Amino acid sequence: MKVLFVSNEVAPFAKVGGLADVAGSLPRAIAEQGVDIRVVMPRHRQCPADEECSMVLPGLSVQSPGRAHAASVLETTLPESDVPLYLVKYDPYFDRPDVYGTADADYPDSPQRYAFFARAALTLNHALGFGADLMHANDWPTGLLPAFQALNPLGTPTVFTIHNLGYQGRFPLGVAPAMDIDPASPTLPLVASGGDINFMAAAIRSATVVNTVSERYAQEIQTSAFGHGLEDLLASRGDEVHGILNGINYADWGPDVLPAGLSCPYSAQDLAGKAACKAELQKRLGLPVDPTVPLAVAVSRLVWQKGLDILAEALPRIVRLPAQFAVLGSGDHELESLYLAMAQANPERIAAQISYDEDMARLFYAGADIFIMPSRYEPCGLSQIIAMAYGAVPVVHGTGGLADTVTEAAPEPTGFVAEHLVPLELIEATERAVTAYRQPKRWQALVRRVMRQEFSWDRSATKYLALYERALTAR
Ligand code: ADP
Repeated sequence: MKVLFVSNEVAPFAKVGGLADVAGSLPRAIAEQGVDIRVVMPRHRQCPADEECSMVLPGLSVQSPGRAHAASVLETTLPESDVPLYLVKYDPYFDRPDVYGTADADYPDSPQRYAFFARAALTLNHALGFGADLMHANDWPTGLLPAFQALNPLGTPTVFTIHNLGYQGRFPLGVAPAMDIDPASPTLPLVASGGDINFMAAAIRSATVVNTVSERYAQEIQTSAFGHGLEDLLASRGDEVHGILNGINYADWGPDVLPAGLSCPYSAQDLAGKAACKAELQKRLGLPVDPTVPLAVAVSRLVWQKGLDILAEALPRIVRLPAQFAVLGSGDHELESLYLAMAQANPERIAAQISYDEDMARLFYAGADIFIMPSRYEPCGLSQIIAMAYGAVPVVHGTGGLADTVTEAAPEPTGFVAEHLVPLELIEATERAVTAYRQPKRWQALVRRVMRQEFSWDRSATKYLALYERALTAR
């Protein structure tokens, strides 16, 4: 089977969130199942320099009605694999400081950029003579690809994965001409929804099969509480909306993978190094170095979705349990200022590092006793899975992938779950964690169990393969 896997972010080349982690790992696991899978992404400025890649298509003419863009294609491989990664180079659209735009606004020409990218991926498939049996598109920036395929009688089947329904790529209908879509053409009804162009809706409507990244989220998005206005469209495709949990790559994450210069590896059998990591984290954050007080952390984009405003309301009582709390994140300026102010007001208990810092994130995961993730909604969530690999016990809101990966149920609890996202329930769930922390034997058993949870990509890859087969048969 030949599969073209298309994503706007691929770790470690250009990463904004969990989508990049998935696109960097899942294709490798699928390739190990014997599939000829190749990955396509735009050549963002963050990607390797031209000299580090091979130029495989110096001239790729990407046609759209009334226009042609002169692009080119570079090739490298996903790290530690033979999986080809094609970078579509078109500097006017993608040689920019950020992947999407600033925290405040996406680049205003986003519709043109991603209409181009979908056309480029399809053109490249032919120009390279790859001839994919199936195309796997991911999230709204690739949403027009299934739509273009559905309009083509010779189009290949498509799988579309929703990594986050909250970001849909919605633009006024008036941008259609700039995207080289003739308002009178059959393309427009396919890509329009609710009076807007909607890339996500276009893909949900047109893809041969649709999936999202946990079973719980696959159900939730068919309801008005979680559907972001697309619940009816999703429900109309109900039988073809699947849920496949993400994994993590245990070679990239876990107590053997600590920040450079830090040497306190540990394991489920021997947790001594974790205490050293905690002391190091406390020291770096300026918190009292105290092994007896539990250290709770959050590593997160600071955005509405992640519920950190609710956590901020709960925090004064959480730190009085007592506990220390530290956040690593960036995003909304209001949330950044809120956490900085709370840290300034209570430096003995609260620390805030406002940055995107992968090394520091590893130290947070390794040094933390408790990992708090109070997302309003969470398609899968990788952070809680990564935290578990490092033996940080999750306290989560029981929604989406958080509900599918963390359980408080006996006999094998793996964390603490607030069923409703209200400050009181978060305080109570964290209090249950702190109570467990004060019973060293119980806590150690819990940390060990958490570290033994395995969310490997192999298991997900097998399920994606079944989904690919389903799409090929449906076609
Ligand atoms: P999302 O994709 O919605 O941001 P996930 O939990 O699926 O959420 O993935 C988040 C990823 O981004 C994880 O790998 C996490 O470690 C990383 N991350 C989030 N914030 C930061 C930060 N401030 N610094 C470093 N890594 C971060």
